[in-house]
Amino acid sequence: MAKRDFYEVLGVARNATDDEIKKAYRKLAMKYHPDRNPGDKDAEEKFKEAKHAYEVLSEPEKREAYDRYGHAGVDAAAAGGMGAGAGSFADAFGDIFGEIFGGGRARGGSQMYRGADLKYGLEITLEQAAAGFDTEIRVPSWDNCETCHGSGAKPGTRPKTCPTCGGNGAVRMQQGFFSVQQTCPTCHGSGKIIPEPCPACEGAGKVRRNKTLQVKIPAGIDDGMRIRSSGNGEPGVNGGPPGDLYVEIHIKKHPIFQRDGDDLHCELTIPFTTAALGGDLEVPTLGGRAQISIPEGTQSGKVFRLRGKGIRGVRANYPGDLYCHVVLETPVRLTEKQKQLLREFEASLGEGGDKHSPQSKSWTDRVKEFFS
Ligand SMILES: [Zn+2]
Ligand SMILES: [Zn+2]
Repeated sequence: MAKRDFYEVLGVARNATDDEIKKAYRKLAMKYHPDRNPGDKDAEEKFKEAKHAYEVLSEPEKREAYDRYGHAGVDAAAAGGMGAGAGSFADAFGDIFGEIFGGGRARGGSQMYRGADLKYGLEITLEQAAAGFDTEIRVPSWDNCETCHGSGAKPGTRPKTCPTCGGNGAVRMQQGFFSVQQTCPTCHGSGKIIPEPCPACEGAGKVRRNKTLQVKIPAGIDDGMRIRSSGNGEPGVNGGPPGDLYVEIHIKKHPIFQRDGDDLHCELTIPFTTAALGGDLEVPTLGGRAQISIPEGTQSGKVFRLRGKGIRGVRANYPGDLYCHVVLETPVRLTEKQKQLLREFEASLGEGGDKHSPQSKSWTDRVKEFFS
């Protein structure tokens, strides 16, 4: 791609002042900045072009070389000292964007930070989750240190302005082409340092205590859900607001029920005689016992659905269902007499042909077909 004239790129006259060049660049940078034109290749090219033009024209030596020799003059200079060129450009760029985007934070004041959020894991039973309940939890809390009244400084001494950031709480760091504002590493944003820390709180200004919180667990809450307790996290820094406390729910494994959203599942183990003859069975539900009628000839794996016997979710209008999955139990440790009865029974089944075991018949047919 042929390089355009740098003055043309910035849209300024050849005798433009430094200020005019800076203003022109600033306008183009605002317009074509990649952050404002995500994915726009054309804008990115224009941004780079403007950046490069400004890099050259904003430096008197480079501008002179460009005026005299054109692109050849600055390309040779750039090849000779790329590192320096990049650095000086970054400074200029940082300045401009510092002015445009970096504002908003009061100068000279220390930085306020919101306190960190805390997470509290609460293990509950499935019954508690289904019905909801009120409980108390012990959580950490912080009080102002009585010895130093919250200043963190040893009584008789005072905190000093941080020498690294001059009390700003933030410093400018060079990252490639960008100058970014970072939390001061010396004072961690407070803008102050404590030369002689208070012995009672080790300079923190706060002492940790525990407090009891009332927590209302809503009915239908599910595993992994979190309840927010506003303002009960760690205290803020420099008068910033405190963080929040999140109570994260863990539901213990239940001996009978598995939960799937608002539905519950359980296994229903029945003797093969009941499955064959049918009968009424008592099944457990979270709310107590329920009766179901097992029809004659019930097969293993059959699922009975009990409508509304699941869990009503936190935001649900109706409760889910309970699914009982039939598991047939084969009798074990039979006496000789019982075995004899079963053999007689088996023989009588044989007399009826396939009609007593349609599933076995269709299975046998499928196997035959498979091997033929
Ligand atoms: Zn203290
Ligand atoms: Zn500092």
